[in-house]
Amino acid sequence: MTDMLTAPSWESAALESVPRGFLAHDWQPATGGRTFEVRNPATEEVIATVADCGAQDALKALDAAAAAADQWALASPRDRATVLHRITDAMLEHRERLARIITLEIGKTIREARGEVDYAAAYFRWYAEEAVRPHARSTPSPDGKSHIVTVAEPVGPCLLITPWNVPLAMAARKVAAALAAGCTAVLKPATLTPLSSLVLGELAREAGAPPGVLTVITSSDPAAITMPLLADPRLRKLSFTGSTPVGRLLLQQSGARVLRTSMELGGNAPFLVFDDADLDLAVREAVIAKMRLGGQSCVGANRFLVQEGIADAFAAALGEQMAAVRVGPPGQEDTELGPLADHRAVDKVRRLVEDAVARGAVVIGKADIPDGPGHYAAPTALDHVPADAAIMHEEVFGPVAAIHRFSTEAEAIAVANNTEHGLASYVMTSHIDRARRVAARLQAGMVGINRGLVSDVGAPFGGVKQSGLGREGGPEGLHEYQQLKYLSMPGF
Ligand code: NAD
Repeated sequence: MTDMLTAPSWESAALESVPRGFLAHDWQPATGGRTFEVRNPATEEVIATVADCGAQDALKALDAAAAAADQWALASPRDRATVLHRITDAMLEHRERLARIITLEIGKTIREARGEVDYAAAYFRWYAEEAVRPHARSTPSPDGKSHIVTVAEPVGPCLLITPWNVPLAMAARKVAAALAAGCTAVLKPATLTPLSSLVLGELAREAGAPPGVLTVITSSDPAAITMPLLADPRLRKLSFTGSTPVGRLLLQQSGARVLRTSMELGGNAPFLVFDDADLDLAVREAVIAKMRLGGQSCVGANRFLVQEGIADAFAAALGEQMAAVRVGPPGQEDTELGPLADHRAVDKVRRLVEDAVARGAVVIGKADIPDGPGHYAAPTALDHVPADAAIMHEEVFGPVAAIHRFSTEAEAIAVANNTEHGLASYVMTSHIDRARRVAARLQAGMVGINRGLVSDVGAPFGGVKQSGLGREGGPEGLHEYQQLKYLSMPGF
C-alpha cells in the first residue's frame, strides 16, 4: 500500500515502502478510507498520507490484540525472545532507511536519527535478553505454616501512546517491554510522526510476531482512538509518553475502570554547576544535555543553575558554543541542528526568549538559521535569567540555554525543586560528597552526575511529581507490564 510521493532521491527511496494503513491482522485502510497528511518540518511539504483511523478501527485493533493475548502470554519466554531478537536484527538491517524516515518526519539530524535507531534496537535486544529471566519468589511464610510463591503474569492487551520527539525509540521502549512480558499491544504513534512506527509494525510482523501481537494505529484525532479503548474492559493497561496535561487527562479517563497506567510526562530539568566543577567538562555535558534532539527532549536541560564563582566563565563558553551550532537541512551530514517539530514549537521558543529578555535576561550567544521554509529556531544562550521568567517554569522544548545564577547550595536546590516536574536533573561538581548530598535532595527520578546524558536501556527511566508514574527500561520497565499472582501453598 504505497502512495505517490513528491520527495526527491533518497527521500522517496526511504519513504516509498512505508505502509500507509494500520496493521491488525494485515495492513488495512481506515474505515471510510480516510487519510491524513504527514509533513516534513524542514520543507513544510507533504511527504506521505497515512490511514486516519477512528473509533471503529481502534476497536478492530483491540479485537486483534485480545484475540492474540492468550497465545502470546502462553508462548515460552524463549519463543518471545526469539521474535524480539529478530526485530532487533531487522531494525539494524534497516538502520539507514529508518533513520531517513525519522529525519523526514521530525527533522532530526540524520546523525541523531541513526543514533535513535541504534537506541531503539537496543531496547529490543535488552528485553529479548530479559524476557527469559525469571522474576519470582518462593519462600516459607514467617510462621512456617504455609509457603508463599509469587508468579509474574502479563497484564494483557495494552495501549501504547508515544510522542513525536523520539518517535521510534519511545515506541521501542514500550513495545519491547510489553511483548517481552507476554502482553499484546496497540501502538498509537503521535500524529506528526506515524511513519517510523508503521515500519516498526511491518518489521515485527516479518520477524514472526503473530497477528494481533502488535497493531499500529494512526490517527489525526487521538481522542477518537483512545476514548473507546480506555472504556473497553478488554484493555488492561495504558502506557503513555507525552505532555503532562494530556497525561493528566488520560489518567482521569483511565480512573473510571481503575486501569493500570504508566505515565512518562514532561520535564523541566535543572542543570546545576557548582564552583568546584571542571569547567570544560561542565560545558561539554551542558551542550549534550541541552542540544540533544535540538532541545526537544523531556530530559533536556531547561534551566542552567550556575554558582557565582564559575558563572562568568561557564556563560562565556556556553554562549560561544550555542552561537556556533550549525543549523540547516537535517539530512545533510554536517548539520548539527535541524528544524523544530512545527510552527507552534518555534512560537513557544520565541515567546519564552522574549519574556526572559523583557524581565532582564541578556542574550549571550545566538546562532544563524536558514532563510526560507522550515520550522527553524535559533540556538540561543541567555544569562542572568531571573527566577520569575516563564522559561524557569515551562518546558521550552527548543534550543535555548537559560542561565540563572545562585550563591549557595541550599538556594540552588530550592530553585531546582521549584517546579511541578521531577524528571531528570544534572549536577556538575568535583566533590563526591556534594554530588551525593545534592542528588539526595533533588526531587527528580534521574540525576546525571558529571554527565549530561541519563538515558540507558538498562536503567529505570521515569519521573516523580507531575513528571509521571512508573518506569521504562531495565527490569523495572518489564514489571510495568506484569501483575503479581501469589500462590499460597501448604508448608512443609
Ligand atoms: P502530547 O501530550 O501532545 O502527545 C503525546 C501523545 O498523546 C501523542 O501520540 C498524541 O497524539 C497523543 N494525544 C494528544 N492529545 C491526546 C488526547 N486528548 N487524548 C489521547 N491522546 C492524545 O505530547 P508531544 O507534544 O507529542 O510530546 C512532547 C511531550 O512529551 C513533552 O512534554 C515531553 O517532555 C514529553 N516526553 C516525555 C518523555 C518521558 O519519557 N517522560 C519522553 C518524551 C517526551
